[in-house]
Amino acid sequence: MDELNVKKIDVLVVGAGFAGVYLTYQLRENGLSVQTIEAGEDVGGTWYWNRYPGARCDVPSVEYSYSFSKELEQEWTWSEKYSAQPEILKYIQHVADRFDVKKNILFNTRVVKAEYLEEKKIWSVHTDDGKIFEASYFILATGSLSVPRLPDFKNMNDFKGEFYHTGDWPVTPVDFKGKRVAVIGTGSSGIQSIPVIAQDAEKLTVFIKDSNYTLPAGNQLLTPPFTKAVKENYSRIRKKARETWGGILFNSNPTVESVTEALTENKKEPDRTLGSFSKEEVHQMMEEKYLGTGLGFVTNFPDIQYDENTDARLREYLNERIRKLVKDPKKAAALIPKSKHYADRRPVIDTNYYQTFNRENVDIVDVNQEPITEFYENGIRTTERDYEYDVIVCATGFDAMTGAINKIDIAGKQGEILKEKWSQGPRTYLGLMSNNFPNMFMIAGAGSPSVFCNMVLAIEQHVEWVSQCIQYMKAANKLTIEPELAEEDKWVQHCIDVAKPLFVSRGDSWYVGANVPGKPRVFMAYIAGMPNYIAKCEEVVKNNYAGFILQ
Ligand code: FAD
Repeated sequence: MDELNVKKIDVLVVGAGFAGVYLTYQLRENGLSVQTIEAGEDVGGTWYWNRYPGARCDVPSVEYSYSFSKELEQEWTWSEKYSAQPEILKYIQHVADRFDVKKNILFNTRVVKAEYLEEKKIWSVHTDDGKIFEASYFILATGSLSVPRLPDFKNMNDFKGEFYHTGDWPVTPVDFKGKRVAVIGTGSSGIQSIPVIAQDAEKLTVFIKDSNYTLPAGNQLLTPPFTKAVKENYSRIRKKARETWGGILFNSNPTVESVTEALTENKKEPDRTLGSFSKEEVHQMMEEKYLGTGLGFVTNFPDIQYDENTDARLREYLNERIRKLVKDPKKAAALIPKSKHYADRRPVIDTNYYQTFNRENVDIVDVNQEPITEFYENGIRTTERDYEYDVIVCATGFDAMTGAINKIDIAGKQGEILKEKWSQGPRTYLGLMSNNFPNMFMIAGAGSPSVFCNMVLAIEQHVEWVSQCIQYMKAANKLTIEPELAEEDKWVQHCIDVAKPLFVSRGDSWYVGANVPGKPRVFMAYIAGMPNYIAKCEEVVKNNYAGFILQ
């Protein structure tokens, strides 16, 4: 390629979700030339692609939002406790317009290859339409849950009806009215979409292999007094949220009192494990205190993550609850999760999920009893019979954490291929960088708290760390930064060690790559919480980027 056709910039950012939008703005504000490249036709990332009915956040909206602009915090008003996808997308679009970020973004374009040119100390980045960019810094804001994973049943292409994946939903809404619909998958997206699809579909069949546990979200409209209380206290709320394990302060109903309480209360963990309460006490506590408040009880009882007694007590309650709510015992049995522990998988919150299975138009096929053998022209064939559908929806999740990065051919120093380096699992220092890949940063990915916390908060912390790092390098006349291999190895091991006592490191979930055949089984995040992580990142900076090689 002719040198003239290569666009030279300071920073190339891949992705325009929450991370890419903030990076673009922040780095541009620091005086850098930034080119952001996004595969979708607009900003939003997760909230651009996941337009399925029922899609919404499960972190309270007032916290699942940027904190970097005080004006933005004051001018935006969330309508619901857990906002739905259209509102979150509108928010990110508003942010992009307000801070004039779109002019730096090339949409409908995919980065396919990036190569580090050692002599020039720059990244050469290639797109699917043949463009080439040369950048001093290459930043992957490609998302942890951005590569939809389809099942691999036989003859899937033979199906002649409508076919969708929840993570790649069409912009034009899908009309389910009067249609026979199948949903495959009962993780977060299935649990959110099934109750909504059931309202319109003539007939809905849910194919279940295993389920996540889910509890009522207690979603509700936010009142003006609550919103006022939040806006008046935003900086304290954000500060306190950063001091919590998951970056989330609110875990009760959104009232004015709950804001005061969250800000004054010095939360103490209960001195008893959940397992030490009797069956009746757990029942009463859950029904009176926790149902409908989201996932607060999980943070109140950390023993849910590792204590067998606690887990047994909790699942006893949850399984009984399913049997009580779902009238047909066969359906209830299929809906009871097969995983060994509540915390093996991502806990979910829902609106009317179990109740939906009492509708006459909703049926279940338990694929443990009746496996799917193939798709055919008119629907799905199981070992028992053929089922005819107009629409098939796959709510089958993502190639999480590493999927989007491994889809790009990335070559670092001495031509080292990132995908090969990561063939036994991702290797990063602090989730921010990988040895031998200088000036390549990652946002909220593997080796960072990432999917175990309020991700907008985690993203802001990463973006600010990266932006500060680049400023430091400029001031110190350094051209490159990469982690020391020994520090990276230590960090990878530390992430594994911290997770080892917890059920989640052993369960079959996307956290360990279990949902993607052939993916190495490794726990991919840092699960010791935001405060520990932030402290470590700050310590590194204070010690002039200890653990990193700057040249
Ligand atoms: P994304 O939003 O995933 O954006 C990445 C972007 O990069 C995408 O637009 C993608 O098109 C683009 N991209 C990737 N590869 C390339 C390439 N090679 N070339 C060009 N572009 C590329 N987190 C929470 O904290 N709370 C929640 O309640 C919550 N709810 C969720 C609900 C759903 C349905 C899903 C799927 C995720 C949810 N998450 C939630 C996680 C969510 O992904 C993050 O909160 C956040 O939106 C991630 O932002 P991001 O910018 O890092 O990545």
